[in-house]
Amino acid sequence: MQVYNSVASYRAWRASLSADSTVGVVPTMGALHAGHLSLARAAATANTHVVVTIFLNPAQFAPTEDLASYPKTMDQDLAALEALNASLPPSASGQVTTVFAPTVAEMYPAGIPLVRNEQVGTFIEVVPLSAALEGGTRPHFFRGVATVCTKLFNITRPHNVYFGQKDVQQTVILKRLLRDLHFDITMTVVPTEREADGLAMSSRNVFLSGERRKAAPVLYKALRAAEDVYNGGEGRASVILEAARQVLEREGAGMMKLDYVSLNESELLREVDTVERGKGVILSAAMWVLPTVEGEGTVRLIDNLILE
Ligand code: AMP
Repeated sequence: MQVYNSVASYRAWRASLSADSTVGVVPTMGALHAGHLSLARAAATANTHVVVTIFLNPAQFAPTEDLASYPKTMDQDLAALEALNASLPPSASGQVTTVFAPTVAEMYPAGIPLVRNEQVGTFIEVVPLSAALEGGTRPHFFRGVATVCTKLFNITRPHNVYFGQKDVQQTVILKRLLRDLHFDITMTVVPTEREADGLAMSSRNVFLSGERRKAAPVLYKALRAAEDVYNGGEGRASVILEAARQVLEREGAGMMKLDYVSLNESELLREVDTVERGKGVILSAAMWVLPTVEGEGTVRLIDNLILE
């Protein structure tokens, strides 16, 4: 496995590949867990070269958010990718041959202050999708994601890219970006990896311990309760969403603060009043796990299910 830290060194490697090799790229912010590894595994079944990018992207953090404390575990990340390579079945068409882990200066030559109106240069926005759901409380977020992914796609030149279902809004926005900007890249969305108790794996879960970790699966439980109501024949969004809210109120009171629970169509992410069967409506939620003792930070969790 080769690690490249500069655009020029990565590009020299990319230019050396034969025309019949395929490149699958898995963009990450590092602190790799089994969710990231399942993306890399999916990429290894379909590409000769899997490129995992590791870049903690300042542009998607507001000044008030956790950029400084976000976990950084580069040595363990590289070891986890080596171990993944060793565990791939002989039928895999490739493996993780390359890690692209650029510096901030490489990715943002003009610098990247977190305060938006101090930023200079080129930014990508996918409207109006980036204002929905996560965009409600994180208006900077998808502009940062779309911008860094555009840069990464231009640098890494993938045939295929792999993103996790856990960040469903990200997949919808980036699919739109690929289409609108005429990128000749195919996206595969990989199912959400969960802990045994249902909590979706996330690099931020390391901030949850004790009581907070025990309570965190309530988000998934709430979504499952709403899904049960839908599977029972209910189509009204208000009734389906109320089932999720009730679980959160009953089991999360005092420890969680709900941001949203919502039902949205999968094209422009418009809220729906009635869930049409067969349309793949997105049921998603976000909440903050509040500090229980002095010194703990608030941890934001998101999750989703698709109502088929
Ligand atoms: P991140 O490092 O959090 O930006 O995530 C990098 C990629 O891994 C994104 O495509 C995420 O959707 C995906 N990912 C994160 N958590 C999970 C998970 N629990 N299961 C599957 N994919 C995930």
